[in-house]
Amino acid sequence: MNKAFVREPDAESALRCPACQGRGTEGAAAAAAHHLADTDRAHLAAEVWFCGNAECEVVYFDMFEQMVSVDRLPAPVWPWSSSAPICACFGLTLEDIIADAEDPEPLRIRALLLQSKSAAADCRTLAVSGQCCMTEVQKQYLRMRQGR
Ligand SMILES: [Zn+2]
Repeated sequence: MNKAFVREPDAESALRCPACQGRGTEGAAAAAAHHLADTDRAHLAAEVWFCGNAECEVVYFDMFEQMVSVDRLPAPVWPWSSSAPICACFGLTLEDIIADAEDPEPLRIRALLLQSKSAAADCRTLAVSGQCCMTEVQKQYLRMRQGR
């Protein structure tokens, strides 16, 4: 079969950011409601996607190509601000990850891993993305370990 006719399995379900064409993360409605003023939240449909591209000024969008930009958030957030916490629930920052990468054992990240599985974690609401931060934490940790 010609490769051109084979579609990527998730290419259709993933919505792309209208501004940067990056793949959005679905399920950000609770996070958008928590982080946006009511007037900004009202710009978006019930289903909300998150654009995590730090080069893009859009943070939330919907399937009707309505967008809310990151400057509408009340405070700077990761990854647009590298000093903002990566973990919205427990406050882990890039600095903590750098410290862990330099230590013999990543104790801060191990502690966060336990916390992230506890009832105190509320990523769907508190994280701007609506997702648990562990994937991003692991990515940054690997980057720091390789960059040494
Ligand atoms: Zn975008």
